[in-house]
Amino acid sequence: MTYLTRGSALAIAFFLCGLCGPARAAGRIEVVLDPGHGGSNTGSPGRGEVLEKRVTLAIAKAVRRRLEAAGIGVQLTRTRDVYVPIRARARVANAAAARCFVSIHSNASLDHARQGAETYLLAREAIDIRARRAARAGADDADGVIADLQALGTARASLRLAELVQHHLVAAGATYAPVDRGVRQAAHDVLADAEVPAVLVEVGFLDHPVEGRVLASAEGQDEIAARLSAAILAFVRASDVDAPLLTSR
Ligand SMILES: [Zn+2]
Repeated sequence: MTYLTRGSALAIAFFLCGLCGPARAAGRIEVVLDPGHGGSNTGSPGRGEVLEKRVTLAIAKAVRRRLEAAGIGVQLTRTRDVYVPIRARARVANAAAARCFVSIHSNASLDHARQGAETYLLAREAIDIRARRAARAGADDADGVIADLQALGTARASLRLAELVQHHLVAAGATYAPVDRGVRQAAHDVLADAEVPAVLVEVGFLDHPVEGRVLASAEGQDEIAARLSAAILAFVRASDVDAPLLTSR
């Protein structure tokens, strides 16, 4: 993602460190997890009675347990089987000034033959549009430049988060060993309003004869939660390393 010339790299590097956020404070919500779908929006059907909305909620709750055990404050966009408007979800993370927002989903395919995990960040075009909108809203040119840099910093951090999530998800494992479908970009609505690093993860295909069974099982969900929480912890701890640079400015 090349937005700026090399000449301004040093100044931007200092600025971007500042975007990583302040050092951790007790009781602060640092991670917002978004269990995909809910209520009347059931998501992808799996095999038998399995529905994506239930799988995503179970995984999100298991990730929360693991992160809280590691001392990380976590909020879920829903804790029950209720419908939450798609554009309201990332705003939970914005309001909390969270370190990151992770929307959890599972996939399905028409021929029920696809399998594997993939992690999405917001498409470049959508980021550009948002940055231009923010720049226009600025009171003067300096505000516009800062808004643009913030969008760039958040996009870079989203890519780092996506790479960490994907790397951890596709690691070898006895219960869950998905095909690596890579880090991708798309104009997902749930990511469009995020002002913090944000990714959407498709942990696998719920309708695949083998992978679907893993995703629907308690062991599979726990394994996925272990991978996701390890990735998020790595991301938050890397932000901790960056944070002191802000205070030295
Ligand atoms: Zn979904």
